[in-house]
Amino acid sequence: MAVYVGRWDCTSCGNIGNLGPNLHCEKCGSPRPENVKFYMASDQEVLDKKKIAQAKAGSDWVCAFCNSQNHATQNTCNSCGASKNDSEKKLKEKDYNINDIPTNSQKTPTYSPPKKSLKKSKLKIGCLYLPALIVSLSIIFLILTFAFTTPIKVEVVGTHWERKIEIERYLLLTENGWSIPPGGQLISQHKAIHHYNQIQTGTVTKTRNIHVKVGTETYVCGKRDLGNGYFEDRYCTRDIYETRTETYEEPVYKQIPVYKTEYTYKIWRWKKANPLKEKGNDFKPKWPVISGNKIRAIDSIEKYSI
Ligand SMILES: [Zn+2]
Ligand SMILES: [Zn+2]
Repeated sequence: MAVYVGRWDCTSCGNIGNLGPNLHCEKCGSPRPENVKFYMASDQEVLDKKKIAQAKAGSDWVCAFCNSQNHATQNTCNSCGASKNDSEKKLKEKDYNINDIPTNSQKTPTYSPPKKSLKKSKLKIGCLYLPALIVSLSIIFLILTFAFTTPIKVEVVGTHWERKIEIERYLLLTENGWSIPPGGQLISQHKAIHHYNQIQTGTVTKTRNIHVKVGTETYVCGKRDLGNGYFEDRYCTRDIYETRTETYEEPVYKQIPVYKTEYTYKIWRWKKANPLKEKGNDFKPKWPVISGNKIRAIDSIEKYSI
């Protein structure tokens, strides 16, 4: 597992890039801040065995008495000499995905809410008042118009009427079917294809590509901030697939027609026909006349216009 040296920025003097494991700023000597953010400035691997051992010893601990940070290998506080056993607080380890590894201290910019413009709010009020003004002026105009309107005499000079009846006629029809309904009179009959039956006649050999899991592999999927100024590679595993060609048998089918007797017959049925209409320009509307027993009304519609 490859190990890397992290960096941190001093919040007291602004010095950028103090070496991760350093407990004090290289420029001003201030202690490493409690909320220190380690980042990776380069991918250069640590090869020194002593440093690797330090990286793997665990995260740094924070003294319960003076708040100083100490390496995991130290059993007493650097600053006040208190025992490591009396302190429970440690710097946290953090896992990063390959695209999220910090490369600088990434200080989040302080948020400042946008200033409200006075001009804009005045404009808004104007926008609200203008439609209200138009509406009230329109109402006043309408009231004045009605108040001064004199009644007009209306004389009807013509009219138009239309009356329509939707009808059905009783007709002798020729139809085809697999059976003769009640009242039908047979004309002729013949054999016809009613449906097909699917029968398997054999198989055909075909090939297809399939993905087969052939094993797993381990790969570097990110970095771990070890909480002591060092980073190390994070490993993940994934399945390895291979594309293989396999042969398989596909069934072959044949369509076998099934015949039945089809009948041609005559039958009396009610069928929708052209509607009957009457129209005129007088004041005496009348309905179209329906006569005979082979015709019947199903709906009636009337229209008038002046
Ligand atoms: Zn500093
Ligand atoms: Zn201490």
